[in-house]
Amino acid sequence: MEACLIIAANFKMHFTPQKLAAFAATLADNLDSRLQILLFPNTACLAQLPSCPVRWGAQNAYPAQNGAFSGEIGAEVLDALQIQTLLIGHSERRALGETQEFCAQKCRFYAELGYTLVYCIGESQKIRSSGQESVRAFLDSQLQDIPLDYPKLILAYEPIWAIGTQAASIEQIAQTHADIKALCRARGCAPQLLYGGSVKPNNAREILALDDVNGVLVGSAALVVADFVQIMQAGLQTL
Ligand code: PEP
Repeated sequence: MEACLIIAANFKMHFTPQKLAAFAATLADNLDSRLQILLFPNTACLAQLPSCPVRWGAQNAYPAQNGAFSGEIGAEVLDALQIQTLLIGHSERRALGETQEFCAQKCRFYAELGYTLVYCIGESQKIRSSGQESVRAFLDSQLQDIPLDYPKLILAYEPIWAIGTQAASIEQIAQTHADIKALCRARGCAPQLLYGGSVKPNNAREILALDDVNGVLVGSAALVVADFVQIMQAGLQTL
């Protein structure tokens, strides 16, 4: 099988539908079958997605078909919009109060429905300062009750301290990805594993060349389509 890398973008609250359409028009000219592109626009954009052959996903969803959950979106609406991919456990949502138990509940609910899940894990600066063993134990706790054997589950390692600041070092990424893969193997599972946290055109190639890195999840660098395309091209250079 042809080698394949996953390049994902989380646009957070950014982009109107018009700006997203402009982004997608440029992106469409730069797609390559060796890259799987996953894009997570804000919820409003999901109703007016541009025509672009990538996998579109939601940044959040409530684990219910429908119901009285103000501000949330559920499976009934996502299905109607033909959205079958979901970001779960991003540190910005955990900071808003989403517990590990709730993230696990979301994973299980949407796995039952056959969605592709990108499940984020990552430690704080305080835990990182305590050393790699503390990091490993914390990440292990974030794998609790997650259906790691679900074939459409993708993990994303996103150290909180590296988001919107400066990427983890190559050594830290290599070591931590090896640790996460080992934690999954110990449970008999081998999900794909992305790195996220200040991935930019100038560091993407080195990160994507690492053995245990199956792709990247990009935040701010995805807001400029030329930068995102450069990250894609960096990935292609590693194949
Ligand atoms: C993110 O928030 O998922 C992210 C990776 O952001 P950034 O690339 O800006 O660090």
